[in-house]
Amino acid sequence: MSIKISVDREKCISAATCIAIAPETFELDGEGKAVIKNPTGNDEATIIEAAKSCPTQAIIITDENGKQLVP
Ligand code: SF4
Repeated sequence: MSIKISVDREKCISAATCIAIAPETFELDGEGKAVIKNPTGNDEATIIEAAKSCPTQAIIITDENGKQLVP
């Protein structure tokens, strides 16, 4: 499976939980918002776990068919 990751900047509150779980995939930019550093930086299960951990559901994950997996 290949997944597509995006971050809703409006929803991101800089909690950084995603970075704690998947530090090779997400990082905070200069505005303190999560951005994708490397979409394959961590394995997919870890990236999905990181997305689910976001307190504001700012991370959206879809599969290769466009089906939304998270949130
Ligand atoms: S866990 Fe959610 S709110 Fe926190 S930095 Fe990541 S995307 Fe932003």
